Order: sequence, then C-alpha cells, then structure tokens
Amino acid sequence: MNYASTRNPATCVGLSHALAQGLADDGGLYVPCTLPAFNARDFDADDSLADVAHRLLQPFFADDPLAAHLSEICTTALDFPAPLVPLTPAHTGMLELFHGPTAAFKDFGARFLAACMQQVGATDGLERTILVATSGDTGAAVADAFHGKPKLRVVVLYPDGRVSPRQAHQLGCFGDNILTLRVDGNFDDCQRLVKQALADAGLRSRLCLSSANSISLGRLLPQMSYYAHASIRHWRTRGGELNFVIPTGNLGNALAAILARRCGLPIGDIALASNANRVLPDYFSGSAYQPMASLATLANAMDVGAPSNFERLRWLYPDEQALRGEFIAEAVEDAGIREVIAHGEARYGRVFCPHTACAVRVLERIRERGDSRDWAVVATAHPAKFEQVVEPLVGHAVEVPAALATLLARPSQAEPIGADFEPFRERLRLI
Ligand SMILES: *Cc1c(COP(=O)(O)O)cnc(C)c1O
Repeated sequence: MNYASTRNPATCVGLSHALAQGLADDGGLYVPCTLPAFNARDFDADDSLADVAHRLLQPFFADDPLAAHLSEICTTALDFPAPLVPLTPAHTGMLELFHGPTAAFKDFGARFLAACMQQVGATDGLERTILVATSGDTGAAVADAFHGKPKLRVVVLYPDGRVSPRQAHQLGCFGDNILTLRVDGNFDDCQRLVKQALADAGLRSRLCLSSANSISLGRLLPQMSYYAHASIRHWRTRGGELNFVIPTGNLGNALAAILARRCGLPIGDIALASNANRVLPDYFSGSAYQPMASLATLANAMDVGAPSNFERLRWLYPDEQALRGEFIAEAVEDAGIREVIAHGEARYGRVFCPHTACAVRVLERIRERGDSRDWAVVATAHPAKFEQVVEPLVGHAVEVPAALATLLARPSQAEPIGADFEPFRERLRLI
C-alpha cells in the first residue's frame, strides 16, 4: 500500500517512509491511497485484539519491509485488553480503552508506533528523535512506549500548569532517552513548536526528526483495531451495527473509527463528543471551519482549538455537505462534565474520567431524543488520572490501577521552556 499527502494525491510513499517522516514534505498528512474492503465474516468471534489488528492491517502494510514483522508488532504492542462492557440502560456498552500502562487509549497507538519505529531503525540503522506535543495523555504513552528503546529518543512538550498533577508526574518520570519540557504556553503552542521544528530542514536532518502526534499513521492505524474488535463481537452476539460516541480532541481516535467503518466493519453512527472547545460542533452545525485558541476545560486532553486530523476528515469526505450530514458532533461544557461524574455511580455504577463523561452526556442526549439502538461510549482514560476533578465530585478516593501506581512512585522532573521557537531550537541542538 502506498500513502499520499492530503495536499497532493500525486505524492506516493511507502509505509515505512510515511511512518518515519510523520508529516509529508508539503505539510499535508499521509493517507492510504486505497482502502481495503472487509466484511465482519472475515474475522472470527474469538479473535484477540492482536489477531484482529493483524488481519485488518495487513493490506496497509502490504509491499513494505515492515509487513514481515506485522504479526510480532501487533502481539507485542497490543498486549492489553480493550473490553466492551455493558452499561445501563439497555443497549448501551462502554469500550474501555484505559487498560494500558499509562491508563489512556493513547497506549495502543504509542506502543504500536514504537514497535514499528524500532523495526524501521533496525533496518536503516539511523538514530531518531521523536517529537511529541501533548495535552496530557499522549506524552506519557509515547514516553512509556519508547523508554529504553535503542536508537530512539523522545522529546515531550506539555503546557505547564494545564495537565493534571498525576499527568505531569507521569510525563516527567522516565528520564534516560526521554526529555520532558514544560512549555510556558498552551497545547496549541506545543503543537506549533513541533511543527516548526519538523519544518526546519537543518534540525530535521541532523536529528532525524519525526513526530508521534495524532497525525502519525503509526498511531492512527492500530486504533482502528479496537473498533473492529468490538464491533465484530457485537455483530456476532447481537447482530447489527454498533454505534459509537467518541470523546474527541484532535480527531485521531474518531478518525480511526471512521476509517474502520469505511473498510466495511459493522460500525453504525459515530458521534463526536467535544468539550467546550466547539470548533467541530460548530462546523457540523453549518458554520465555516474556524480553528481557534483552545480553552482550558476539565477534559484537558481534548482542549484543542485546531483538530490536527481535520484535514484527513476532509480528504475522506471531499463534499462538505455530505460530511456535515454524516456525523453527530456536540459540545459538553464543564458543568455537564461535572454533572455526569457526580451522578455516574448512582445512574451507571461507574466513575468516569472527564473525557468519557463528555461522551456519556452526548449519549444521554441521544437517548432523550428517542434513539434506542445499540451504542457504546468510548472510555478514553481511567478516572484515577484525573483525581483532582473526579474525587471531589464522587466523594471518595478512586483506586489507582497498578501500572499507573508504578509510574507515580518514580521521581519526576521536567525542564521549563518558553513558547518561542528559538529557545526550543537551541535546546534541541544540545541533545
Ligand atoms: C487524547 C485524548 C482524547 C482525544 O482524542 P483525539 O484522538 O485527540 O480526538 C480524549 N480522551 C482522552 C483521555 C485522551 O487522552
């Protein structure tokens, strides 16, 4: 399979190249030149997540040197569960994506990307530096996935004071081949710094720069596998398509669901749940696409004013009217997030993280409109990562998953840096 840039369909590169490069030369995002067609019957009911990923991703890896390692990459990277559990009321499920080492769904993509990059490095012998801007969860997942991997270095940038204390601790607890920078700015500043560094030809070639943001194909592709896995199980047991409500920021997770649906998996409607950053809900309700500065909310991993995968969505749906008619997209203010978390145990017997709460709220509205179909809320993080928000609302401590507790027990350290490009470039020169 070849990959083209969203800005130039004539670009044509192989998967390893697209993975290592991150962004296309023209600033566009890499997209597959064709999409494979699957049928739910192509998969067995008892296939594991790694089995489903292997079968689903084979066409995307075809003709690339990485194809020979795909099975091993899936088995090592996707080695923790993504269960679809029942949630009240009837016909509602929750796809739990927080059972990885850093307790958020970013672990799937980060671990898969790291396994791929390790193989790419083993083939070409190059030493690479991976840049990652994070609004909270990506950085920790990428740092954990790349920590200790030979010939790979990671530089994490996060907005100082805008991530939860536990997220901050996680981000700085790795050391070794991981450099953590706390930026005096917001997430959009962090993303801009990464883009500027990637566009700097000198830095790019000297450090063999690459990015691990949600624009990375190495993260996007494996995220399709849990939607495939859950929808196949659902189709086998209940028949019919499963609809999903997805907490959305940069559109990476939702885009994976959209791609999986395009590949023929039994996925029905997809609803995008945003926080108070309304750029997508406004667009889908008919306004022009209007990127804006991000607002700080309780669901901080979704504090995005310019969703980086929007360009891929436009590529998939060149007709704007068709695109707008295709998805539900709704915003949930902080008050709504608080309310869902506060009534979560009484109504659902669950404690939700603030991001998952946005999706629960959007599903509540869908149900109020009389929709009784099968829906799954996508749970993107474990509530213990956001204890400062969650615990006062539920009135008790939230138990910390074992993997997260291990990270929190390590010492943690991050270097402060301004939001201008020059000091960042200087710091990169020193590594
Ligand atoms: C990253 C993240 C999101 C948003 O995902 P996108 O792929 O950026 O849309 C939602 N919830 C949590 C917990 C996250 O870490």
